[in-house]
Amino acid sequence: MSRNNTITVVGSVNMDFTLLVDGLPNRGSTVTASRLHVTPGGKGANQAVAAAKLGSSVRIIARVGHDQNGLAAEESLKSAGVAVDHLEIAEDMSTGLAFVTVDSSGSNTIVVYQGANGSLMPADVVRHSCAIGDAGAVMAQLEVPLETVDYAFDVARSSGVFTVLNPAPAVALPDSILRNTDLIIPNETEATILTGVEVDNVRTAQEAARKLRLMGPERVVITLGSNGAMYLGPEGALYHDAFKVDTVDSTAAGDSFVGAFVTRWLGGDKPDQCLEFACAAGALTTTRIGAQESLPNCDEVKELIIAARRR
Ligand code: ADP
Repeated sequence: MSRNNTITVVGSVNMDFTLLVDGLPNRGSTVTASRLHVTPGGKGANQAVAAAKLGSSVRIIARVGHDQNGLAAEESLKSAGVAVDHLEIAEDMSTGLAFVTVDSSGSNTIVVYQGANGSLMPADVVRHSCAIGDAGAVMAQLEVPLETVDYAFDVARSSGVFTVLNPAPAVALPDSILRNTDLIIPNETEATILTGVEVDNVRTAQEAARKLRLMGPERVVITLGSNGAMYLGPEGALYHDAFKVDTVDSTAAGDSFVGAFVTRWLGGDKPDQCLEFACAAGALTTTRIGAQESLPNCDEVKELIIAARRR
């Protein structure tokens, strides 16, 4: 059975400044970067673009600054088909920024400046609550204030709208958010912080997922990087191995996975089909450099699934 396939994302919009260096700078030292990539990012925007490219109808409740980065971020959302009617421009603030330094071995350091994302408040959600009440799902991450996610999920729950939380970056969460979450999708680190269970394989992921279900969410998916992902819900426990691909950059793999899983869920797929589709989308994202530009479309995901089944 197909469900209402409109997703409303409540989340962050950033510009990412990625500097390629030979070695990461030590305290007090200066290094010269060989390349600079300026690309649209932010977990909210990435997940919105991921879902839109895979066929969902998506809109985003978010804030950017009144600056060039905000315009570029908005353009990227629009070109992926994300509706920006609920994207606000904060006159006196900077758009959220992430400064990423990547060395020749692929290790990185990241400094995030929240900028306008930090000013997305419950009052803004009130202004845009019409975009929550009629959605098929509301999707949030933790790069905007917790009170805003809390409020958005409260509104969604009282309207019977399915809520999806990607608890990234990892922080301790108020009980109320977890109680109002229908589906939670953490990675290993986030699952460990939320449950206290050291998650590093499928068995420990199942244990953490059982604990998470007791905290509120009826359905739990834990992503395990190159080990795939697992699901626990009323249908039971499921596991899908990672697709074998040539990985070059794992940025936005989790965002791609979340957008893909929810797209197929709203399309009426069973959890095992959602898991397969999302693992394929996550894997494809790791085969390209960048965040939003590395997110696959539906045909690419289906091709990878068919190719893997033939093997
Ligand atoms: P995050 O980016 O949030 O840390 P993960 O690293 O767990 O998320 O990746 C999300 C999903 O993307 C994984 O569950 C997996 O299906 C896929 N994936 C990630 N890394 C790889 C990889 N190296 N090879 C194949 N698939 C991958």
